[in-house]
Order: sequence, then C-alpha cells, then structure tokens
Amino acid sequence: MPDGSLTSFMAARAEEIVSACTACGACVEACPVVPHAGISGAEPGAVAGGVLQVLWDGGRLEGPAAAWVHQCNGCGACIPACPEGVNPRNMVMLAASKSAETHSDTPQLFRKMARAIRLMAAMQLAPADLARLLQPPKPRSVPVVFYVGCNAVRTPHLLFNAMYVLDAIEVDYEVLGGPAACCGIIHTKWEGEADAGGRVTDGTLKRFGDFQPERVLSWCPSCQLHIGETVEGYGEAAFAFEHVTGYLVEHEERLRGLYTTEVPMRVLLHAHEGMADLGENVARLLGDVPGLDIAGIAWESGYTCGGSGQDRSPGLKAERRKATYAMAEEKEVDALVSLYHGCHAQLSAGAETQGPPVVNFTDFLVRALGGEPRADLLAGWRMAGDWQALTDRSMPSLERNGVSVDSEWLAALLPDMLASREFAGGLDELARPR
Ligand code: SF4
Ligand code: SF4
Repeated sequence: MPDGSLTSFMAARAEEIVSACTACGACVEACPVVPHAGISGAEPGAVAGGVLQVLWDGGRLEGPAAAWVHQCNGCGACIPACPEGVNPRNMVMLAASKSAETHSDTPQLFRKMARAIRLMAAMQLAPADLARLLQPPKPRSVPVVFYVGCNAVRTPHLLFNAMYVLDAIEVDYEVLGGPAACCGIIHTKWEGEADAGGRVTDGTLKRFGDFQPERVLSWCPSCQLHIGETVEGYGEAAFAFEHVTGYLVEHEERLRGLYTTEVPMRVLLHAHEGMADLGENVARLLGDVPGLDIAGIAWESGYTCGGSGQDRSPGLKAERRKATYAMAEEKEVDALVSLYHGCHAQLSAGAETQGPPVVNFTDFLVRALGGEPRADLLAGWRMAGDWQALTDRSMPSLERNGVSVDSEWLAALLPDMLASREFAGGLDELARPR
C-alpha cells in the first residue's frame, strides 16, 4: 500500500518495470560497459533477468548482473534500445539502490562527503562566500533558485562564475546548496537507505518550495539524474527542475548582446553522452563567445566524470579519455573545456601530466562579459604538491570560517579529499567523530 514514502514510490516504480520488461536483453547488448565488465560471454537476457530478480524480491545483486550494475556509468545508451519503453538506466539505478539495502560498499558516504566538502570549501572561501553556498538564505518569493548541489561546492569558483553570468542577465534568484540541501542520491543509491534518502529529498524539495520559484536551475548532473529521472514524480513540485545551461541558452540573445571582450583561443569541449543535451547547450553558449574557436566536442561515456559516472567502468573510461587527449593533440587546441565540477577536478588533475590546460565553460562566459573569472585554487594546489605547506597556508582561511583542525591531520587527508576517494570507499578518517 503506497504510504507516500520514497521507499514505497521506488517499490511501485520497480513493480512497473518488472511488469513491462520482458528480459529480452537488448539493453545489455547496447551497453558499452559490458565488454569492460567481463560479462561479454553472459547471455544478455539472463543479465537483465538478474537485475529484475533484485527489483522483484530484493537481495544482493550477484554474478554478471552485479558486474553490469556496478559498472553502469549512466551513459543512457540502453534507453533507445528497449522495445518495451522501459528506461533501463532507471531500472539499473533502482536495482543499485535496492541491492545497497543489503550491502553497501560505501557506508557512511554522506558523512564523509559532507565533511570533505565543508573542509575544502572553508579552505578556499571567505566567510560570506562560504555562507552563500552552504547556508540557506531567508525564504522570499523568487522566480529562480540556483541549486548548486553538494559536491560542486568543492570547486566553488565554477559556481561563482555561473552566478556572475546570472547576475549579468539580471536574474532574481537565490542560491541553495551544500550537504544540507542534498538531492538524496547518496543515502538512496550509495548507502541503501531509501527512507533516509526520501527524507533528504523531501527536505530539499520543501526548501525549494519555500522560495515559491517558477524554476529550479540545477548545476550538478547527479542531482539532475536523481531528482529529474531516477525519482522523477516523487514529491509534489510546483516548479520546473532543469539544468542551468538550458536556462542560459534560453537567454542566449541577451548574453550575446552583453559580450564585450574577445577570447581568442582554440578549444575542445569535453562532454558526456549520458546528458548529451547539456553538452550541446554548452557548445552553443561557447559558440557565441567572441573570438573563441571550438575545434570540436570530445564525447566521453557516462553522464559525468567521477565515482557516480564514468569512473565506474575504468576500462571504458581509459579508452575514451585516450581518444579525448588524442583529439586535443590532433586539433592543436589551447585548452580542454570542462562542463561539470567532477569533470573539471579530474581533468585538471590529469593536465599535470598530459593534455592541454583545463578551463571551465563558465570562465569563457565571464571573460566574454568583461569580467575576471574566479581563480581555480584547486588546480594551483595540486600543482604545488606539498600538502603540508598547502594546509599551513589554508589555516587562516579555515580559522576565519570557524573550522578548527590539526594541520598534519588535514595534510595527510588532502590528496584523498581532492580525489573524492570517499566515493571509492576511502577517507574512513572522515567518518570518525572528532
Ligand atoms: S546507462 Fe549506459 S552503462 Fe548504464 S546500463 Fe545503460 S547503457 Fe549500460
Ligand atoms: S529493459 Fe527493455 S531492453 Fe532491457 S531487458 Fe527489459 S525489455 Fe529488454
């Protein structure tokens, strides 16, 4: 009997999928991670059947079905393949959540992630900026809420650049984000705590509603996938939930009229097939930047970089990343353009040893508007490589933000925090009380 909880919503969604799916295996055949997950020899219908079994009666995923779900990077290639109109990506996400109820590889992920985010943001931001990203403002009626999610707060310069652009087109908006306004994906999919995840999602949807917005513009692709697809339809919402890049495309003409400055560079855009429309939005926005020469789009698999996206299938990722760097070299570009925070952090780390410098798309928009993009402190930190010196330099910023930590403790954790290792089961130290 539905009781309005996320658990019951997901159970009803799973039941619909189990009734519609014929276990034909077409989604498995279309899936690019299958050869990399060591399950090419498995019968596709049986792999899909293993997933259905978990949706039907719970329990832990096993065998080829477990390998498939574990490596699913959210690329969406399976969606058009289904002859029954089922969304197999949704089926796999629901099975991952269901299976995590009996066993999670990343228990306490939310706690670790929230602490890492707060520490990293406090190292980089002045108190007023930190409060803008992490503390919900007093509710007022606004047409737009800019929802920055949790993990993007680690790379705050991207978010402030995006706000510079929203300010330029005179949007009346408020900002919501940080772990206190999580979309719920961590509890639901990673920790297998659907009830807790439902409460988190409910709380965040209510927070949006407090501002009576017409539109909530999200930044984070994981929030977009979770709220916009996996649990789409859960909770009452009187507003549209969409990605900020689509909103900027709608205001393209206005933006074009505001551009004052040439940005004479040749660039390659990095985008993901799992949310191709967002990559296309960014390509369009960059196409308007005066002087900018876009040599092409390097499409990679998954819906984002990072632990919830392309990293889940390391073999496929290595192949696609190699192709991206080869394309950058062949086209002789000055920079690789990142889209999301997860991509930016990972590509910037890679740029230390290979590939061109990495610049986020928001930098180009700010520059074209005649502004100065926010500095990418993380990239500079990685280049410095001396974690203790870096931590010592950050202590005054931490103190200004009221964060008291031992600098040696922080220096030891910093490499893993920068690489978001909690998504691979690491950073246990952040789960311990201090
Ligand atoms: S979303 Fe992509 S990786 Fe996941 S099952 Fe579908 S095709 Fe495979
Ligand atoms: S989700 Fe669709 S494509 Fe996949 S096994 Fe079921 S019916 Fe076939």
